Amino acid sequence: ATPTSSINSNSSASRKRLLKSPTPPPVAPTESAPKESEVSPDDEKILKEALEDELIDQMRGIDKTAAKQIFSEIVVHGDEVHWDDIAGLESAKSSLKEAVVYPFLRPDLFRGLREPVRGMLLFGPPGTGKTMLARAVATESNSTFFSISASSLTSKYLGESEKLVRALFAIAKKLSPSIVFVDEIDSIMGSRNNDGENESSRRIKNEFLIQWSSLSNAAAGNKEGSEDEEDERVLVLAATNLPWSIDEAARRRFVRRQYIPLPEPETRKKQMNKLLAHQTHTLTEEDFEELLALTDGYSGSDITSLAKDAAMGPLRELGDQLLFTPRDQIRPITLQDVKNSLEYIKPSVSKEGLTEYEDWAKKFGSSG
Ligand code: ADP
Repeated sequence: ATPTSSINSNSSASRKRLLKSPTPPPVAPTESAPKESEVSPDDEKILKEALEDELIDQMRGIDKTAAKQIFSEIVVHGDEVHWDDIAGLESAKSSLKEAVVYPFLRPDLFRGLREPVRGMLLFGPPGTGKTMLARAVATESNSTFFSISASSLTSKYLGESEKLVRALFAIAKKLSPSIVFVDEIDSIMGSRNNDGENESSRRIKNEFLIQWSSLSNAAAGNKEGSEDEEDERVLVLAATNLPWSIDEAARRRFVRRQYIPLPEPETRKKQMNKLLAHQTHTLTEEDFEELLALTDGYSGSDITSLAKDAAMGPLRELGDQLLFTPRDQIRPITLQDVKNSLEYIKPSVSKEGLTEYEDWAKKFGSSG
C-alpha cells in the first residue's frame, strides 16, 4: 500500500501506526523530487491531530485537556536508540528482551503462565544507561512510548495531576502495546512515611498505583487467547538512582528489578573506543589498556564526559588561533589529552555510594 492509502484507511491498526509514526524533523527539502503519493509533514500533522481528537472523543471519562497534554508532551516520536548503541549491559539487555521485547513482538507466545510482567524497574548509579535502555526497548519492541517525568505529571492545580495520570493510562491502553517509561520514579513513588510528602504527591502516587493495578486486573479478567488481552499490553518501565526511597507498595509492583551497574573494564574500553572512533587520535591498544586502571569507577556518562573533554584538548591549546587553523592542521587527540581531562572529570559515584546499590540489589534485585 502507498503511504497515502494506509493513512486514509480507517482500520484501527493504521491509526495506531500513524499515531506512533515519528514526526519528520523540520529539515530543508532534499534535492530528490518528492513522490506523488508522499504526504507533506504539515498534512501529516493535521491528520495526526484529527486522529488524536477522534481518539480522545472515543474515550469516555477522560479529561480532554489532560489527554491533549499527554499527546503533546508525553508521546516520544522518532527518538531512536538501538541495542548496539549501548555498550555492555548484556544481562540487562537480555532481561529486557525476555520481559518486554519478545512478548510485545510475539504476544501469541506469551500467555497464561508466560504472561509478561506489568512492571520493571531499572536501578543503579546515575549515568549507567538506564534511560538509553528504555529508549532502546521502545525502538526494538515497536510499541508506543510514553516518556514521563515527575514534573510533567505534577500540576499546580489540585486534581489536574490525577486527571493526567488517568489520561496517560487510558491512552496507553488505547494505543497498546505501550510502554510507560517513568524516569526518576522515586520522585513520584517516594516512601509513604516520608515526612516531606505533601498532599498532592500522595494523590498522584495513589492514582498511579490504582491505574497500574487496573491493568493487571484487566489482564487477569481476560480469558487466555482473547483479543482484549493482546490489546491491553501496557508495561510500566521505570528508572531510578534512588531505589531505596521507593514506596514498598510500588516496589512490590515492579516484579522485575534490574540492577544496572557501573560498566565493566571491557565495556569502558569499548565505549571509549567507539567515542573516539570518529575523531583523529593516536591512542593505541596499550593506551586504552592503560586507561582502564585510570577510569575505574567511572560510569557510562563519566566516560562520555571524559572523551568529550579530551577531544577539546587539541582545540584548547590553540586559543584564538583556533579561528584561523584549517581543520586538517588540528593535531590528533592523544593519551595525554585524556590524562589531562582525568584531572577534573572524576567519577560521579563514590565507592561507598556503590556499596549502597550493591546491598539494595542483593536484597531486592531480580537475579540475572
Ligand atoms: P541513566 O539513565 O542511567 O542516568 P543515561 O542512559 O541517561 O543514564 O546515560 C547518560 C549518558 O551516558 C548517555 O546519553 C550516554 O552518552 C552515556 N552512557 C551511559 N551508559 C552508556 C552505555 N552503556 N553505553 C553507551 N553510552 C552510555
